[in-house]
Amino acid sequence: MTHRSQAQRDAKAAISGQARAALFGGEEAAGLLATLFRTGPACTPADAETFTGPENDEIDRAQEQREDAAKAMCASCPARSACLDYALAVKPTAGVWAGYTADEISDLLTAEAA
Ligand code: SF4
Repeated sequence: MTHRSQAQRDAKAAISGQARAALFGGEEAAGLLATLFRTGPACTPADAETFTGPENDEIDRAQEQREDAAKAMCASCPARSACLDYALAVKPTAGVWAGYTADEISDLLTAEAA
């Protein structure tokens, strides 16, 4: 067992199924999130700032570099497909998911609906 796997288990255990459903968009989304965790995401809670940015303002160049770093992690993530399914279901407004920014996820949904 790697340290990262234990961190993922800890993160999952910290959110009960019911709270997860309330936080992340209902039972269907909670099921997709459970699948994502089971698949073994490459990112951990320690990577949160890389994926969602700092609490304070961020200059454009720094945001680009941060998002590129997040996307690079997604590129080799075993849970990428499950992560994309989840992101398409919850329609995030921020962050990088499955190698896409929230705006790019929105564009994918728009293209799918057209
Ligand atoms: S695809 Fe990216 S955001 Fe999704 S679980 Fe993997 S590393 Fe994290």
